[in-house]
Amino acid sequence: MNYRHAYHAGNFADVMKHALLARILVHLLKKDAPFRVIDTHAGIGLYDLAGEEAEKTAEWRNGIGRLEAPLPQEAEALIAPYRAAIAAVRARHGESTYPGSPMLVSAMLRRQDRAIAVEKHPKDAQTLTRTLTYDQRIKAVALDGWTALHAMIPPPERRGLVLIDPPFEEPGELGRLAEEIARAWKKWPTGLFAGWYPIKDVRAIDAFAARLAASGTRKVLRLELMVTDGRDAARLNGSGLVVVNPPWTLKEEAEVLLPALARRLAQGAGAGFQAEWIAGE
Ligand code: SAM
Repeated sequence: MNYRHAYHAGNFADVMKHALLARILVHLLKKDAPFRVIDTHAGIGLYDLAGEEAEKTAEWRNGIGRLEAPLPQEAEALIAPYRAAIAAVRARHGESTYPGSPMLVSAMLRRQDRAIAVEKHPKDAQTLTRTLTYDQRIKAVALDGWTALHAMIPPPERRGLVLIDPPFEEPGELGRLAEEIARAWKKWPTGLFAGWYPIKDVRAIDAFAARLAASGTRKVLRLELMVTDGRDAARLNGSGLVVVNPPWTLKEEAEVLLPALARRLAQGAGAGFQAEWIAGE
């Protein structure tokens, strides 16, 4: 377990993932009924962009660092909840901080909602527990996220989101993501699942999408942001999120938000986006 998210926090992939996470939460917040978020690979929750790790890679400068100016109006309206969550976290923890997924969730939950943040790395899990102690609605647990995923669904509320955001440090993790999503969907067919993946070799991503489609999982939306033309399979060219049982407006929203982010976060020619169903009803 060598991956440390502190080196990557706030990069373009985080911006894409967290802005879409906020859109999904906005949708869940529309009904009064309580919901639960299960974050299977949670990280430490709060990052310091002025800290040693973040400064070493400076990835955030090509991510959240490029979002100071507003996006075009329609896209700006869609990214507003993400910005508001960051602002709330910064007001509490300092202007150089950046919220990881559990902190973003914490900033958006209501009194009746709950979240579980799972982190396997023992030291990171301790940090996460400390970071979240102020929030009684969120429980941090030191567990294997894959085991936790299957043990914790369906949640008692029967409404909510499972965010699956593995580190992709071992070979075969894309295949595993497809398999685990398919298995989880069979156990909870109405659950909302969002699985993140890095885009390096674009052919591998097509194979992943085909595998997920072939698994029989229904209502799967593939959302991708490319910051390059994708020709160099050795680099991080883009960021993807597959969403099972997405909010009905998410595809349309992504079609506004992702091109605006692609223009703002481009790292060369060929930046772009994708929003398509890989499996329908
Ligand atoms: N979701 C976080 C966010 O958006 O802020 C970032 C998570 S980071 C990409 C992946 C995290 O998963 C790392 O903190 C790593 O320690 C943790 N991890 C690795 N293997 C795990 C496993 N099997 N179960 C749970 N967590 C794991």
